[in-house]
Amino acid sequence: KFDVRIRGNHPHELGELAATLNYMAQEVVHTNQVKDDFISSISHELRTPLTSIKGWSETLNSGGYDPEETKIGMQIISKETDRLIGLVEEILDFSKLQSNEMKLVMGTVDLRELLQEIMLNVWAKAEMKKIKLNLDAEEQPYLVHGDGNRLKQVFLNIVDNAIKFSSENSYIFISLRKADQQIAVSVQDTGIGISEENLQKVRDRFFQVDHQNGGTGLGLTISQQFVERHGGEMLMDSVLGQGTTVTVKLPALEEPGVPSDFVEAETKA
Ligand code: ADP
Repeated sequence: KFDVRIRGNHPHELGELAATLNYMAQEVVHTNQVKDDFISSISHELRTPLTSIKGWSETLNSGGYDPEETKIGMQIISKETDRLIGLVEEILDFSKLQSNEMKLVMGTVDLRELLQEIMLNVWAKAEMKKIKLNLDAEEQPYLVHGDGNRLKQVFLNIVDNAIKFSSENSYIFISLRKADQQIAVSVQDTGIGISEENLQKVRDRFFQVDHQNGGTGLGLTISQQFVERHGGEMLMDSVLGQGTTVTVKLPALEEPGVPSDFVEAETKA
């Protein structure tokens, strides 16, 4: 009885949107292969939730559904809208970072607290795949001078990927280390891993090993740029079939509230 279909071909406007994005790709962006692929994958990612929203709203509009079915339809519309907002925010972040218009709101951030918060945020997602998250850190603050929201975005992206590309019943190890005035955060998974050839491409930019996972390939590029804006670096190691480790190194804040000269210079730049 509950049979919903998205009728016809893709709605006209969606075709136009893709065409406009492709036009922009040719006109504005250098027309190299990587960027062409990027635009087409973004268009695709925008089209998928839009098509679903369109289909569900038409279906609900045609009436005849009981409250329970209507609720499910509304929930999907809401979820897909969130996904669209997330995608558009990623694109905007990326474009601001590219044009150097991204302003960071700097403060003192305890990375241990931040990671504990992230583990709570992703708990349900990990639980669905029966993935255990493990945080290895000393009972002490791990302070950096940084933008708490942006750093959260960085680590959420990394931990999210670790969950997304891990199989059920696996472990994700997160560790915090402090040495040489640096704090290193490592997120290690035992998931599908990335081949050597693809790892280079992922490190380069925008690259998705396969386009099935519903992302933009922008997440790590954005994360890396945020880390660099904090005077840090992001490293990625992976073995196909064995797992991936992403390490972020940030300058440690020695005394609470006193930023190091290096970070101060970076913020002003
Ligand atoms: P996306 O939003 O598409 O996930 P990211 O920039 O976050 O974009 O990641 C780019 C690509 O790198 C992913 O599509 C995936 O192929 C690969 N990748 C990232 N993290 C992992 C991981 N932990 N394990 C395996 N592959 C990963």
